[in-house]
Amino acid sequence: MLTFERARQVILEQIIPVGVEQVGLLDSVGQVLAQDMIAPWDMPLWDNSAMDGYAIRSADCNQPLCRLRVTGFLPAGAKAEGIGVEQGCAVRIMTGAPTPSGCDAVVPVEETDDGHLEVTLQQSVTKGQHIRVRGEDVMSGAVFVHAGAIIRAPEINILANFGIAQVPVYRRPVVAILSTGDELIELGRSPGPGEIVNSNMLSLAAAVRETGCVPRLLGIARDTEESHIEKLREGLKADVLITSAGVSAGDCDLVRGILEKMGAERIFWKVGVKPGGPTAFAMFGATPVFSLPGNPVSTMITFEEFVRPALLKMQGHQRVLRPLFKAILREEITKKPGKIQIVRIKLEYEEGRWFAGSAGNQQTAILKTMVDAQALAVLPAESCYFAAGDEVDVHFYGNYCDLTEAAR
Ligand code: AMP
Ligand code: MG
Repeated sequence: MLTFERARQVILEQIIPVGVEQVGLLDSVGQVLAQDMIAPWDMPLWDNSAMDGYAIRSADCNQPLCRLRVTGFLPAGAKAEGIGVEQGCAVRIMTGAPTPSGCDAVVPVEETDDGHLEVTLQQSVTKGQHIRVRGEDVMSGAVFVHAGAIIRAPEINILANFGIAQVPVYRRPVVAILSTGDELIELGRSPGPGEIVNSNMLSLAAAVRETGCVPRLLGIARDTEESHIEKLREGLKADVLITSAGVSAGDCDLVRGILEKMGAERIFWKVGVKPGGPTAFAMFGATPVFSLPGNPVSTMITFEEFVRPALLKMQGHQRVLRPLFKAILREEITKKPGKIQIVRIKLEYEEGRWFAGSAGNQQTAILKTMVDAQALAVLPAESCYFAAGDEVDVHFYGNYCDLTEAAR
């Protein structure tokens, strides 16, 4: 049995980004940039005014209440060619307009009498003030967004400024999701005796989507070899395959055996973590195959801890594990030694410290506790007792974890 840490390591060693594609600028949001972006020109491209005001010569204005003749007007979008600031003169200028020749400072309109033919400056002037200098943001030839950056609104803005309409990003992998089990029915039917809704497929699809990948829903494989082979064959055409259930040691647990028969190489089965012990990982050629236990809480937690980091790495992300931080336990916890335990918690922030309380009944069949969990505590394998007041490692759970209540 692999340790939790080793299992993650082994998975990530097998995973490489799936490839690079060019996508339209706006469609690249959330994807990872695959190349350094080099500035094709200086930004800004010309010296320009940072304020609405007057372009002046600072040497004219070394005494207070200096008075200048206004000889021109430069709105944003105007060209400064042929316009200059002569000695004792000023040019009215708007934010973003190119500064005219001779000008070495801009005086904001608020620091003047707002005159149109003549203007009186109310304050002293420093050379260079309120002028944005050519190239001060980015110099031509410099890297302005590095490979590995996640495209967000600021990256979109700077890429657009440099006229880049197509962006090289890591492709979003297609992730096939297969549920197994004779007890399953699809959403939309009411469960009869012994039947349960195939909720794992939808929950996994949601979690896959949160990582940025594209889920492909394969439906249900029944507990027969033929049904498994048919569905698994379909699933192995995707970039990644995730299966749910049928991976323990029960009579109907067919997934691992059939995958191996079909040619998948088993990398591991069983991890020292609770919940999620029976998790299996295999490679079918270059296709990673995650077989997650079927108990919905185990499915979600093993996805979070093992599959999510892999899917992020496949999309070129460099930081694939959620950062751990310390929280102080509200109540004591006992556990068996030997396995990492993942505990669903609620967080509160008080006087600069995070406190962790149980999100509810921790049995793996209890879904509601999963709904209420804002974070997961990762309790070390070797320990068996944690007192109230002890510090433990926790990480947030989900992309949209709402901490407003916690911080109140
Ligand atoms: P198994 O690994 O097949 O023994 O399944 C473990 C538990 O997970 C059983 O209680 C199943 O009913 C439940 N389960 C299996 N597949 C799903 C699914 N797709 N959605 C919800 N629960 C499931
Ligand atoms: Mg089953």
